[in-house]
Amino acid sequence: MIKHFEGGMRVLLAAATLCMLLGMQQPPTTTITRIRASGNDDSTVVRIRAASTLTAFQRPERIPGGVVLRLPGALLEDGAIDSTALTPAVRLEAKRVRDILVLTLRCAPTDSVVLRRDGQRDLLCVIQRRAQQVPEDIAPRQHPAGRGKWSLDVIVIDAGHGGKDVGAEGVNGVYEKDVTLAIAKLVRARLREIMPNTNVVMTRDNDTFLELYRRTQIANEAGGKLFLSIHCNSMPTKPHPAHGCETYILRPGRNDDAARVASRENASVKFEQSQRRYEGMTEDQIIVATMAQRSFVRLSESFAASIQQEVTDRTPLADRGVSQAGFFVLVGASMPNVLIETGFLSNRSDAEYLASSKGQTAIASSIATAIQSYATSYQRSLSH
Ligand SMILES: [Zn+2]
Repeated sequence: MIKHFEGGMRVLLAAATLCMLLGMQQPPTTTITRIRASGNDDSTVVRIRAASTLTAFQRPERIPGGVVLRLPGALLEDGAIDSTALTPAVRLEAKRVRDILVLTLRCAPTDSVVLRRDGQRDLLCVIQRRAQQVPEDIAPRQHPAGRGKWSLDVIVIDAGHGGKDVGAEGVNGVYEKDVTLAIAKLVRARLREIMPNTNVVMTRDNDTFLELYRRTQIANEAGGKLFLSIHCNSMPTKPHPAHGCETYILRPGRNDDAARVASRENASVKFEQSQRRYEGMTEDQIIVATMAQRSFVRLSESFAASIQQEVTDRTPLADRGVSQAGFFVLVGASMPNVLIETGFLSNRSDAEYLASSKGQTAIASSIATAIQSYATSYQRSLSH
């Protein structure tokens, strides 16, 4: 018996020596300082934060009724699990098996589970209910045989704000809702001239109030292939020197300025009867929405760049570039989508230009040219 034990020890020692000789090491230990889950009917996001760079994690493993995440070498700090956000729908269990931290999350067999890094120290596990996923037929690459339906036959133009939601008020007294509607109508008119075979759908073509979620809903129902939301920027104090045009794609904001713009535009929800649909629209939920749009994010980026180039080439508006932020109005879009902040109503010279018919016509015409050049390069990419 003792002999057998000694033999076993010798094998273990030999194995340990071999590991050292081969340079095989245990993954460095890292401490998980916070696990926070948030969720709604459509998705659950679990953010796992480590004290230092998180190097090792395994692919999620499906088990009956849930999914298991394994983090080799990870320790769980006491109180790291933020239980305030845990609900029956977001049940989370953590235990340590040997040197592996094992997290079990509840989900249905049909849910999609994605685990990915978010920076050096964070892991995000996103569980999406099947119904909320992007329909398969939205990803062009997955349907090489069905290219016909990928022609840009429907373009959706969204004039920001409307009715009781006036948007920003210009230093010259002009309302954002009127500028955006005027430009949107001119874009439609110009597109009818230069792209006569394309159907242009307006989310609104008069001064009516429209909820943010309805705008992409209209676009999706119309089978839109491109969605453009038109807005005007503004600073909290006016007159203000900030000026120029910028175009946004949907992604979690990278800087304070982008976050300011998104939060001002998202404030439109205060005019809506039910704000419940926006509850829990945290940074993590914006990440989920961004992931749902991953099949057309490149197209959105290319469209944004095209708009930015045309508008700043053909108008006196300064080029503030393409940015990213969490705009609620873009969240539900099932097609490439961008939001343009044409100029600053809080700036005297931008406001004067935005209120003038000359300025509105020039901006609209450049937007239409950008749509046309996007359509041309899109068709070219399909034929290769
Ligand atoms: Zn706006």
